This record gives sequence, structure tokens and C-alpha cells, in this order.
Amino acid sequence: MTEQITNDDFIFPKYHAISVDKTHFFYLCPHPKKVCPSLVHFHGSCGDCETNRIENRGSHCKGETTNVDVCIDNGTLRKCLAVRGNSLTFKKYK
Ligand SMILES: [Zn+2]
Repeated sequence: MTEQITNDDFIFPKYHAISVDKTHFFYLCPHPKKVCPSLVHFHGSCGDCETNRIENRGSHCKGETTNVDVCIDNGTLRKCLAVRGNSLTFKKYK
């Protein structure tokens, strides 16, 4: 018997990037604290903070079992995000 590969294998959870700068893009963790203690996850932005796109990444999130798609669109702030505890601060990037 051969194992079937279905389309579902290629459908990843989709999240919206809240901000992107030249180093990272950031998205809010959708999972409860008891599943994942992180408020925000971030990945390298490959130096591109301008282009709207979807980035597929292996998540560091404890609530994810697959890669995730993170959408960078017109609603994504072009700013650096600083996370301290439960507070988020957006800063201008240079
Ligand atoms: Zn998480």
C-alpha cells in the first residue's frame, strides 16, 4: 500500500505579520500561554521590509506541528518591534 499525499499536507497555518524590519518580521502567537509561553514569534526577513509576501517558516512555536505561513501585507507595520514581557513597542527602523 502506498501512502497518499494529500493537499492537506501542504496547507500551513496562516498568520499575519504585525511588523517587519530589515532583520525580522513578527507575528503574534495565536496559542494560549499554557501551550506556548511566547507572546510574539519572529523570523529573519532577508533584509526585505518593503515587499508584501508570504513567508513559509519552521516555527519556534510550541503550539505548531508544521511550518507556518506568515503574510506580510499592507497592514504590516514597517517597524522594528521590541517585546518586553507583555508589552510591545514599535520603533522606527533605520
Ligand atoms: Zn507560540
